[in-house]
Amino acid sequence: MKRILITGAAGFLGSHLCDKFIAEGYHVLGMDNLITGDLNNIDHLFKNKNFEFYHHDVSKFVHVSGKLDYILHFASPASPIDYLKIPIQTLKVGSLGTHNLLGLAKEKNARILIASTSEVYGDPLVHPQTEEYYGNVNTIGPRGVYDEAKRFQESITMAYHRFHGLETRIVRIFNTYGPRMRLNDGRVIPAFIGQALRGEDLTVFGEGNQTRSFCYVDDQVDGIYRLLLSEYAEPVNIGNPHEITIKDFAEEIIKLTGTDQKIVYKPLPKDDPMQRQPDITRAKEILGWEPKVNRAEGMKITYDYFKGLSEEDLRKSEHKDFSKHIVR
Ligand code: UDP
Repeated sequence: MKRILITGAAGFLGSHLCDKFIAEGYHVLGMDNLITGDLNNIDHLFKNKNFEFYHHDVSKFVHVSGKLDYILHFASPASPIDYLKIPIQTLKVGSLGTHNLLGLAKEKNARILIASTSEVYGDPLVHPQTEEYYGNVNTIGPRGVYDEAKRFQESITMAYHRFHGLETRIVRIFNTYGPRMRLNDGRVIPAFIGQALRGEDLTVFGEGNQTRSFCYVDDQVDGIYRLLLSEYAEPVNIGNPHEITIKDFAEEIIKLTGTDQKIVYKPLPKDDPMQRQPDITRAKEILGWEPKVNRAEGMKITYDYFKGLSEEDLRKSEHKDFSKHIVR
């Protein structure tokens, strides 16, 4: 049986990846320090004999006994609100954490896939974003702690690949959504759905002309799975190219939830990328992958998930105000 270590196992993507690898017949070692992760996301796995969980911060030395075939490094805060709250941990898990896991991969002769992000492209001047684009990142802005940690992560991963011959994979993840997103992480989908469910107006930042392209979690997990098992070491974009403005998206949510909420406009957060759409030519050619779930289907499943949460969860999700971080 293949053994895989998944860091960030209690997070949104990490927990779905644990499910996927368990379903594919792997023995999964989940690791998380639970700063932004939630054990409820993996509660159903604790009774499975092929799942183990370690409460550990991967920014510190990581020890795993026994053989290890694969490592997926998905531990990291991943929402702008979290970077503002825990900037140093964000930098550490992307840099020190990645270094520790690369060292572990080398020691165990394991293949490692690291979770990078469309944030490496910053506020992009090239559209849609291909993997060749170097990006437009403000190193010292609020998002810099995440963007630069992820850019360093890619560099050190390629250095281990080239210098030590380690088998490495890099996925650049574009906005992904689905059940188990944290309701209070400030990201646009849980924010809008939480607002609709609490009967509040939907807060669109700026004029809402900025665009995003949202990928359903099952498609994202399938892309990551294929990349891990591929022979390709350069970065690969995984995301859904179907792009929408945030204002149009707010209107879609109002229709989906059948509520009569209005849209209210709030200041645009600093360095908020104005447009984002993955070019997925590489993923199509190398992995034979493209997304299958359209936004209407994926959002329906996601909305039903959030609707099933308790009143208390909803109260905890109240909206955070970004206004002190404005520049535009
Ligand atoms: N956004 C918004 N209202 C909200 C939360 C987010 O208009 O209540 C916007 C945000 O300014 C950004 C987009 O939605 O342009 C996506 O934000 P998110 O935090 O989900 O992720 P990002 O892609 O910016 O990392």
